[in-house]
Amino acid sequence: MQNGSKNSHDFGASFGPSLRLGVLGGGQLGRMMIQSAVDFDARVEVMDPSSDAPCRHLTPRFVQGDLQNADDVVAFGAELDVITIEIEHVSVEGLKTLESQGVRVIPKPDHLAVIQDKGLQKEFFAQNGIPTSPFQLVDGAEGVEQMGLPIVQKMRKGGYDGKGVVLLKSKSDLPKAFDVPSVLEHAVDIEKELSVIVARNSQGETQCFPVVEAIFDPVANLVDYLIAPAAITPQQAQDAESLARRVAEAMDFEGLLAVELFLDRKGDLLVNELAPRTHNSGHHTIEANRTSQFEQHLRAVLDLPLGATDALFAASAMVNIVGSAAAHGTPIYTGLEAALSTPGVHPHLYGKSAVKPFRKMGHVTITGQSRSEVEQSVMRIREQLAVDGKA
Ligand code: ADP
Repeated sequence: MQNGSKNSHDFGASFGPSLRLGVLGGGQLGRMMIQSAVDFDARVEVMDPSSDAPCRHLTPRFVQGDLQNADDVVAFGAELDVITIEIEHVSVEGLKTLESQGVRVIPKPDHLAVIQDKGLQKEFFAQNGIPTSPFQLVDGAEGVEQMGLPIVQKMRKGGYDGKGVVLLKSKSDLPKAFDVPSVLEHAVDIEKELSVIVARNSQGETQCFPVVEAIFDPVANLVDYLIAPAAITPQQAQDAESLARRVAEAMDFEGLLAVELFLDRKGDLLVNELAPRTHNSGHHTIEANRTSQFEQHLRAVLDLPLGATDALFAASAMVNIVGSAAAHGTPIYTGLEAALSTPGVHPHLYGKSAVKPFRKMGHVTITGQSRSEVEQSVMRIREQLAVDGKA
């Protein structure tokens, strides 16, 4: 595509193999996006801070750079037709510059700016009547008691995978409070943690993936496994999907948006937070749905028609493969053979050269004819799979 024809209105119409697509972040999400991009004959160029990123050897152009540095982002993206992200902690300023130079940027930098800051996210929910737990913003540890206890304190910026989130139950927990700008939230009495991934294109067309239920490992505080469809009523599923669409529409969002929800014990749905990209809770869609989240992301980014999201199986699950508690060094995967002898099990190893305790090294997808069949396989596979390290 010629530079002069960069135009978001007919972008999909300009699709072809000469198109240059870049992604900020070269981890497992980028890696699975590249797998999908092969089917579109789209070559994905990658920038990541680590010379050893999981995408390193899967791209015709790998640039080592600081994702939060505007100059690095502009230097990486200047010749691209379209740029997207696999992690939200990137330079909005750099993306705005690229956009002003005619590069199509999805998600939009203004949306990223809101989502990068949990305080602005909460204000966006409040301003748009999106149900979310009551909150207040504070500048530091002083004043964390102002909403009463128990509360959840979240750093406004930079948190991920539960890092930057602390539950303050009683006064004895107060020394654990973060002394940085934060959001204080009422602790929700959580029945289930749910997620809906919604795609929205430039015409305002939306498609939701069926609601997913996440089950957390209390020790690692990471998703232990997730299962789809969530065990909720059809009405709750419909409400969760409409809520996700409402969020995308209120933001005029373009791209793929993961909407994390709580179902509380009163039966109310509350939006917890947003991720403007492919998400852990959509990994199973590679095997389990008519269109995967990675393909859907590409379709939205390239402004092509969105794909059908129906599930192909009665149930499916995703189990993270994480490093053992004391694992360091070159990863050694045990139990993979046993796990793969179960029908419907598919591995995704992320190509990380070093294992660390609880580091996400891969996942397996399990598809099946019933929820109980899939749950039984999950339990067995969690016992079988381990990643240790070799010095
Ligand atoms: P991160 O962006 O780091 O994943 P989250 O906002 O998703 O952070 O919070 C991590 C976890 O903390 C959630 O999955 C949930 O288990 C718990 N949590 C977050 N907010 C609340 C809340 N208001 N009430 C109760 N638990 C919460």
